[in-house]
Amino acid sequence: MYCKKCGCKIDKDSVYCDSCGASLMNNKSELKEKKASKSILLIIGLILLGLILFFVFGALKK
Ligand SMILES: [Zn+2]
Repeated sequence: MYCKKCGCKIDKDSVYCDSCGASLMNNKSELKEKKASKSILLIIGLILLGLILFFVFGALKK
């Protein structure tokens, strides 16, 4: 793989870039955080959808 900051070729298992010292673990954790926030948004969306359906069917019963 290559460093995203300087483009230097680096080992897959290395945590820091040997050339510029950029942390490679941060990029991975940022991706994980983005995925986590997406799943949280999905859960919030499902809850809102459930509430909307609940109120719609509640209004239909009346
Ligand atoms: Zn680098």
